[in-house]
This record gives sequence, C-alpha cells and structure tokens, in this order.
Amino acid sequence: MPEIFARPEPSLIPIARPRCPKCQGRMTLTRIESDHGNPDLRTFECSNCELVCRLPADEQVKSLKT
Ligand SMILES: [Zn+2]
Repeated sequence: MPEIFARPEPSLIPIARPRCPKCQGRMTLTRIESDHGNPDLRTFECSNCELVCRLPADEQVKSLKT
C-alpha cells in the first residue's frame, strides 16, 4: 500500500488546485501517494462532476490527455 499523507511536508501546503478539465470547476486534493523514486501522485476530485484526476506532483492538469 502506498503511504498517504505519511510525511508532513510544509512545502506542499499551498498546493495549486487545478481546474477540472470537464467543467472548469476547482478540484479538491483528496490524497497524495508517495511512490519510491517517483514524484508524489496526487489525486484531485471535482466536487461538481466528480471527475477524478491522478497526477504526478510535477505535472499540471492542462497536460493531461483525456
Ligand atoms: Zn468537473
């Protein structure tokens, strides 16, 4: 199982909340998974249409292929 919020990391607090590619609403960060040797995987969820995006910490939603 990946670790979820296991590391308190102050630099992660002001996380940019991406816009939903579907409805342009603000997405909410629901979880962060740490993967060994890889960027953290962040899961965002749209509260409007319930779309879920999983993105590595170094990627932006705009680059997501849908
Ligand atoms: Zn949406």
